[in-house]
Amino acid sequence: MIEILNPTELPRAREAGALVADILQTLKSRSAVGTNLQDIDRWAETMIVEAGAVSCYVDYEPSFGRGPFGHYICTSVNDAVLHGLPYDYTLADGDLLSLDLAVSKGGVVADSAISFIVGDSKPPESVAMISATERALYAGIAAAGPGARVGDISHAIGSTLSEAGYPISTEFGGHGVGSTMHQDPHVSNTGRPGRGYRLRPGLLLALEPWVMADTAELITDADGWTLRSATGCRTAHSEHTIAITSDGAEILTLPKQAHS
Ligand code: MG
Ligand code: MG
Repeated sequence: MIEILNPTELPRAREAGALVADILQTLKSRSAVGTNLQDIDRWAETMIVEAGAVSCYVDYEPSFGRGPFGHYICTSVNDAVLHGLPYDYTLADGDLLSLDLAVSKGGVVADSAISFIVGDSKPPESVAMISATERALYAGIAAAGPGARVGDISHAIGSTLSEAGYPISTEFGGHGVGSTMHQDPHVSNTGRPGRGYRLRPGLLLALEPWVMADTAELITDADGWTLRSATGCRTAHSEHTIAITSDGAEILTLPKQAHS
């Protein structure tokens, strides 16, 4: 199903997006050497509940996971790339941490992910990988707008990742967002321009390029959720929820400081 928001619902989508962005930035600022992933999960829970929002993850039980997920945020470290189940792990200097958060507020979902390096050391290959997913995300957003097609976004994301030298997996990608977290259309991280669903004002999309340094093959942890690179290489993931408007695409999950 593809949901199209009416213009009176857009403010609620903005509110959900601002909340997700705010929580992610707060969690990023608290994620230091010595921070435990379970603390990040508890902080996320507190902020979601205090904001009167509802977690999209706690009861989430899709076919690909061993559900319900039972946590408030995905914490994926180093070779873990998607659906990282928070566990008793203490962050170390140079760890590459991806945080992925989706909540529903006022009946509308927003979904966003950020990747960053913990501590002072900045391994160049990690910096490059994070930068590639961010560039791909913004290339995808630039290709989105009324009249554009899903394939235009997929092509923009995929060609940016390929030019940066990363293999691309088509196993997981972006998706429509609305009253629930995962809706049609699927937005693959590679594709052909001019193909697929034609975008319309009121459509919300989560775009989410993710890469692994030297493989496109995923393995699933014994926890039934966490997806890791098959080779143990590092990984990165960036995601924004956008709204298609009459004159382009509006990023709903942009951090506050980036607005000014
Ligand atoms: Mg997400
Ligand atoms: Mg998503």
